Amino acid sequence: MKTVFTGNFTQQEPIPEAGIEAALSVLRSGRLHRYNVAAGEDGETALLEQEFAAFTGAKYALAVASGGYAIGCALRALGVQPGDRVLTNGFTLAPVPGAIASVGAEPVFVEVTDDLTIDLDHLARLVADGDSKVLLLSHMRGHICDMDLLMQICDGAGVRVVEDCAHTMGGAWKGVPSGRHGAMAAYSTQTYKHMNSGEGGILTSDDPDLMARAIVLSGSYMLYARHRAAPPPEAFEQIKWVTPNVSGRMDNLRAAILRPQLADLPCQIDRWNALYRAVEDGLRNTPGLKVIERPVEESIVGSSIQFLLPAFSEQQIAAVLQACVARGVELKWFGGAEPVAFTSRYDSWRYASPQSLPNTDRILTGLMDMRLPLTFSVEDARVIAQIIREEVSAVALAA
Ligand SMILES: *Cc1c(COP(=O)(O)O)cnc(C)c1O
Repeated sequence: MKTVFTGNFTQQEPIPEAGIEAALSVLRSGRLHRYNVAAGEDGETALLEQEFAAFTGAKYALAVASGGYAIGCALRALGVQPGDRVLTNGFTLAPVPGAIASVGAEPVFVEVTDDLTIDLDHLARLVADGDSKVLLLSHMRGHICDMDLLMQICDGAGVRVVEDCAHTMGGAWKGVPSGRHGAMAAYSTQTYKHMNSGEGGILTSDDPDLMARAIVLSGSYMLYARHRAAPPPEAFEQIKWVTPNVSGRMDNLRAAILRPQLADLPCQIDRWNALYRAVEDGLRNTPGLKVIERPVEESIVGSSIQFLLPAFSEQQIAAVLQACVARGVELKWFGGAEPVAFTSRYDSWRYASPQSLPNTDRILTGLMDMRLPLTFSVEDARVIAQIIREEVSAVALAA
């Protein structure tokens, strides 16, 4: 009998009891709107921002309605205009080009490398064209590129960087937290990310002007003095007259759920990485399968794992997917021609002008992706890796 895995790849852990308690107390107060605070009270949202800024080392933080909203807000704060060309990863997920399109700008896709990071040579060539003033850098699936080199390329050409840290909350490059290199960084607290408030996002920056704009954009009205991780009132003096309100605030209920999760995050990261390393170890030296080696400079958060089947045909990949799912292991494939569930590729975003990325095409054709929820044990991770190993080997050896 072949082992069948019975765990659920999309089942999260419950919200910590402290978060449930805090949420109930917000509900009992009736003060759910972030600016609805009692005398002497800071409010859960302002406190979350203060704690998140401390967690990453950013000067300022702003909690908003979603990760996608945080990215769009950053692009607006940077003054991206309709028709502007914004550089971004060819390998990412739909909210990234979607945020660019939401401000009327044009996504310009950069190739991916075999390490699943942005191709810095291709980036340097596109930056040299001089048509783009902003890079929206997606740390897709938690893979962090050489950030020193990336910033050198962008700074040298006056290109501002917005970091999409939806998959790197808690990660770092050479000890510098992810999100601390660019002008602004966006995080998501949507259910499938590293903290879970259903929906939610956080934007960080050290730039007082950009953050003042982001706060007014998010819908602060003239209540920005109630923030605890915001620039001083002077930063708002000019911009408050010229910055539109594009409401996308976070509320106190979500913030209450998130604060205990932020306190637990370092411990959760260790648990994710134990699962990741168990799957990685189990997959090593499988015929036909290439593990993505993680650079020593990178501190990872292993909430998902990717691997390549570089020489497999579409039929062989379909056979692996089918055999794994029959044994309870849900793999996602980035090579499919049609977008499926959360998985889509740059050529499925047809609102963007058609672009040709031959390396990205080649890599995505063999790219497999798997979530690692914390409801799995390390033993589960070993079983999953063994199933993948057996099924990939069977297909490779049958060829
Ligand atoms: C989830 C995600 C986002 C956006 O987050 P939402 O909170 O769902 O809007 C942005 N970028 C990437 C890569 C994501 O996976």
